[in-house]
Amino acid sequence: MCAKQLQFKGYALTDPSRWTDLKITEFKPKNFEPEDVEIAITHCGVCGSDVHTLTQGWGESKLPLVAGHEIAGKVVRVGDKVTEFKPGDRVGVGAQIGSCLQCRACKSHYENYCPKAIDTYNAEYPDGIVTQGGYATAIRAHERYVFPIPDEIESRHAATMMCAGLTVYSPLKTWGAGPGKKVGIMGIGGLGHYAVMWAKAMGAEVYAFTHDPSKIGDCQKLGADHVIDMTEKEFWKPLAGTLDLIISTIDVFEKNMPLSSYLSMLYVHGKFITCGIPDASNHLPPLHSFDLGGNGCLVGGSHVGSKKEILEMLELARSKGIRPWIEELPMKDVAKALEGVKDNKVHYRYVLTQDIDGA
Ligand SMILES: [Zn+2]
Ligand SMILES: [Zn+2]
Repeated sequence: MCAKQLQFKGYALTDPSRWTDLKITEFKPKNFEPEDVEIAITHCGVCGSDVHTLTQGWGESKLPLVAGHEIAGKVVRVGDKVTEFKPGDRVGVGAQIGSCLQCRACKSHYENYCPKAIDTYNAEYPDGIVTQGGYATAIRAHERYVFPIPDEIESRHAATMMCAGLTVYSPLKTWGAGPGKKVGIMGIGGLGHYAVMWAKAMGAEVYAFTHDPSKIGDCQKLGADHVIDMTEKEFWKPLAGTLDLIISTIDVFEKNMPLSSYLSMLYVHGKFITCGIPDASNHLPPLHSFDLGGNGCLVGGSHVGSKKEILEMLELARSKGIRPWIEELPMKDVAKALEGVKDNKVHYRYVLTQDIDGA
């Protein structure tokens, strides 16, 4: 068949001092290889990572730079060796676009921890081509990093599952959220609202922690069994020794963040997993061995998730009818979405819809 010729252009950062002023710019995609899938983008979510990268909070970014890694679209062309996809399929792409596919992690469904992992934007392929994200007309990706969207899930809903959804699904699954487990979700934003819904669907008893009392009603609607107002003094005291797992999505660590008090809420060998990634200068608060010894707790991290986990997550969303709470905007309004994420105004994720001529 004669594939439609895609143009590669997107809303790009060209001047870091004006981080929301993105201009439509052409870019060179990766070379099309036999295992690659070419996708016409229909939707892209707006992630906190996009804000950290565009504001240069994680260090100097490449220029021009198209952000966005919560991508949904339609397959337009596939390479000769692609086995999973055909033109017309609805698919997603998340925050990772490549890895070595050879190392121990890659061969054990931990490709998200490959030392040669390639981010979907602001990174480089081995041949030097810069990766560009989803505020764009199109993207090319190796099929390992392309995910089929089930018929029952609309693309606008699937888009934000690719990063926000996966980033919290992975640690919930890894650390055993399920029946009989008490799971705390700290920070109810894009990631946190997914975490509450996933943990509940997995069968856990869910404790939602929010700094924003106006979100208490939302937390209940999302399925939380308990909602804790973190603005209340010593809110952790009644929960001492209770939780098996805390998933923290907080991505700004306040100077006086009482991390040791948060850890006191964990049951024996409970885990505190931080999924939000603050700016480079914003460290976790210091801990003392005393803070870990009382309940034998563990503090850990997590980084997106694997294809295996994405497929499980999409099946959970499909079978339980879980959908994110989103606000849709045309891509040209990306500045409004970025400001909304930065100011924590979004309930609970912006999804940009395609509006570039020629897309
Ligand atoms: Zn993200
Ligand atoms: Zn690898």
